[in-house]
Amino acid sequence: MSTDTQSSHTGSQSSSAASSKRVAVIGAGIIGTMAAWQLAKRGHDVTVFDQWNTPNDRGASAGESRIFRTIYKEGPEYVEFLRKSGQMWLELESEQDTRVLEWCGGLTIGHPDHPDVAAVADRAREQDLEHRVLDAAAMRKEFPQYGVDDDEVGVFDPGAGVFRPELAVLAARDEGIRHGAQYRTYTRVLNIRPLAGTVAVDTAEGASLFDSVVVATGPWAEELSGFDASLIRPTQLVAGWYPVRDLDMHQPTNMPIAIRRHPEGGYSCFPCLDGASVKILPHHLRWPHLSSVDELPRFIEPDSIRSAEAAVARLMPHLDPTAIRVSTWTEGFTPDGAPIVGTSPVDDRIVLAVGMSGQGFKFSPMVGSVVADLVATGTSPDALAIMDPSRFSTGAAT
Ligand SMILES: Cc1cc2nc3c(=O)[nH]c(=O)nc-3n(C[C@H](O)[C@H](O)[C@H](O)COP(=O)(O)OP(=O)(O)OC[C@H]3O[C@@H](n4cnc5c(N)ncnc54)[C@H](O)[C@@H]3O)c2cc1C
Repeated sequence: MSTDTQSSHTGSQSSSAASSKRVAVIGAGIIGTMAAWQLAKRGHDVTVFDQWNTPNDRGASAGESRIFRTIYKEGPEYVEFLRKSGQMWLELESEQDTRVLEWCGGLTIGHPDHPDVAAVADRAREQDLEHRVLDAAAMRKEFPQYGVDDDEVGVFDPGAGVFRPELAVLAARDEGIRHGAQYRTYTRVLNIRPLAGTVAVDTAEGASLFDSVVVATGPWAEELSGFDASLIRPTQLVAGWYPVRDLDMHQPTNMPIAIRRHPEGGYSCFPCLDGASVKILPHHLRWPHLSSVDELPRFIEPDSIRSAEAAVARLMPHLDPTAIRVSTWTEGFTPDGAPIVGTSPVDDRIVLAVGMSGQGFKFSPMVGSVVADLVATGTSPDALAIMDPSRFSTGAAT
């Protein structure tokens, strides 16, 4: 683990009672629970609504494991955001006396000329981030779990790790509750109505009134965010679990997470967390857009499973290439692949934190912190321009 992730986050602390607001957070996945924690910690009166339980297995925050990385090919602006997020994850673990993130390190594996592999190595060098580049021989010696070709390398990020996402949601929920947040589970929000001097949140039980509303509805974003379906598209992702032949070799203490780029299959790979198998999320298969989250098919096409199994057989020599479990989830993706975090262009009492585009778990604490800043003052020193909702000029209609 890199040492710069170990000190405490020094962001905003409790606000005075005078500036305390009544805030509704809609959606209690990792983004909503983190926002609720940060808002309650700063003294706001927070009510969180979710149509299901918290955590639940329906949203984008479910599925046993998630990756944390610090060397981020997606853009240099994310690096400081991730450094601060790492501090906040440690703070959450410390306050809740729990462990939700194993610092197992992370590899990006592929041909050194592959754009993603080159981008990770370049980012590490440009931003002076701790890393090692291993050639094929060094990879085989140190990380035999990953079968590499002679012309491949691995870029090792010691500041990467694997989350237990359900436990992370639970920890963020409980830390928010400790600071006074209230949760209304199994309560679907039907509408948000900005009115003079207040914002109404409608459920089947009637309207509740708030000063501000945070929309953190994950892949269901189009319903309440005001963005149309072409801007935040629910997208289907599939993962399979493959039995380990050597349990010890695949434990998080011995196996880093990996992102693989190979002509015969790309994937995210997670160490064994269930005592029996390794989860692999293929990237080379189609990630279909759905017309609605509720249309998520439970059936996975046999061709997709066969293709994933073939990639495992080719690239993961110490796994049985038979998927013993397959699961599927949705996530909201934007056209440019960057999240939407900011004040609604239409009403500044509504803050949007949606469209996380497959990236949101790792930096969810900082999204929560930015949301809390925006609710309090309308601006945040930590807000990233790349996430500004106004970049979609035709989008907002809340
Ligand atoms: C398979 C998969 C793998 C991923 N891998 C990674 C990874 O390795 N690393 C990483 O950083 N990120 C990863 N991501 C992305 C990350 O997990 C998501 O960005 C993040 O979990 C999104 O959280 P969320 O709170 O926005 O959404 P969700 O977890 O979906 O939460 C939204 C909540 O809103 C509720 N809701 C919706 N509408 C309403 C309503 N009208 N009323 C009340 N409640 C409502 C839902 O019930 C839900 O609980 C992955 C995503 C997926 C799907």
